[in-house]
Amino acid sequence: MFHQAVNNEAARRIFYGLRWRSAAAAPLSTLQRRLEIPRLRKSRTASKRRRARVPSCRRTPYRNAPRGITPRITVALASKARYIGGVEVDIRSQTREELQSQLALWGQPAYRAGQILEWLYERRAAAWDEMTNLPKALREQLRQTYALGSLELVRRQGAPDTTRKFLWRLADGALVESVLVPASPSLYGEPSDRHTLCVSTQVGCAYGCKFCASGLDGWKRNLRAEEIVNQTLAVERAEGGKDGARIVNNLVIMGMGEPLANYDNLLKALRILNAPWGGKVGARKITISTSGLVPQIRRLADEAPQFRLAISLHGATDRTRSKIMPVNKKYPLRELTAACEYYQEKKGRMITLEYILIAGVNDGLDETAPLAKLAHRLGAKVNLIPYNKVEGLPWARPDEAAQRAFLAALVRHGASATLRREKGDEIDAACGQLRLKTEREMAGHAMAMPQRERSMEAGRDGLKEEIQSGD
Ligand code: SF4
Repeated sequence: MFHQAVNNEAARRIFYGLRWRSAAAAPLSTLQRRLEIPRLRKSRTASKRRRARVPSCRRTPYRNAPRGITPRITVALASKARYIGGVEVDIRSQTREELQSQLALWGQPAYRAGQILEWLYERRAAAWDEMTNLPKALREQLRQTYALGSLELVRRQGAPDTTRKFLWRLADGALVESVLVPASPSLYGEPSDRHTLCVSTQVGCAYGCKFCASGLDGWKRNLRAEEIVNQTLAVERAEGGKDGARIVNNLVIMGMGEPLANYDNLLKALRILNAPWGGKVGARKITISTSGLVPQIRRLADEAPQFRLAISLHGATDRTRSKIMPVNKKYPLRELTAACEYYQEKKGRMITLEYILIAGVNDGLDETAPLAKLAHRLGAKVNLIPYNKVEGLPWARPDEAAQRAFLAALVRHGASATLRREKGDEIDAACGQLRLKTEREMAGHAMAMPQRERSMEAGRDGLKEEIQSGD
């Protein structure tokens, strides 16, 4: 009975002083002490009196709760479970099993989980009161237990090729980006019907690749699972996706941050986005990109879902790669290659090698032989990406002739390679660039304002949505 109560993530989290094993084995009296609940009296009369003091809207959902889990305990569980280390538990961070387990604890029928998930992922509800087929008492209980967060759209930029860049403000004011790229060019002025969404996994980045805007101001924090999930839902909402209609067909985890440095939150978010009750994006349509975190690549190889893996390589020799990617000093190519081979052995899936072409840094034709050799050894495809200029950084993209010459040399060496027609150059599409620009604009704007205006401005909503160019 008690195990049933704690075998539920929300309830378990109130034990954040206890490890899971010891929490599961803890006696009921420990739970009471942790929750600062006085010991329950055995007398039936006292118990009845206590039940009578609990408002009916709270009492009803617990009617069928396991014996010993009284309304008083469940109310306390609900209010304490809402916070983990001061952070609210968002319902979009919960898997179906976790939700079912919580609902069972409240004595709710099993079909309620399906109804709630439909509201969250099909109808993309933004408030509890929209969930009109749930009893009012249950909605109230959900409100007390979980947050229902959403992302605030700060800026939206469009490009002529219909690539869209979104800048979101999170609950703590941090900014992150997502980019929506049409999978096929739009025809006759109609929007493309298939889209790839690139999502962020961290605020800033600690890995400091020399060409990248995301790491310029360092790492601030990891995104929580629901913040990753919400990027997809918010883009679909912003693009006007009707109830249940999907806009995002493919997901690439290549936005701001090193995805595998936020491993647990990322995997949880991807399981939700992949689930038939959640985002419904097929595992094979989800690509995780990494700068080369060897232990996490091996860990990912042992996980069940068949996600695709892309390596941000950008240099086929340790000399070139270490010049622009500090991570290569910790995990040099020899170790990275071994981890990729392990991944392929376990998954049997083709890896993609992402290679940003930077003029005068890694676009020399002498780089093509080692790159083709590595691709051949891994059975990988090489995706060449012309560099997107980042304001304040000295790097530039090679001209088109140099890009084509690099591709041709690579193919001559026997590699399977493509040269990406770069999308979104007009909209600060290099990862982290729009956020950096906006933060600097906001900082400059604040410095330029007299004190009185600055405090007035702080109360307003901040920057508004903008469409820069032809959609
Ligand atoms: S390329 Fe990726 S890993 Fe490197 S600094 Fe940018 S976001 Fe971080």
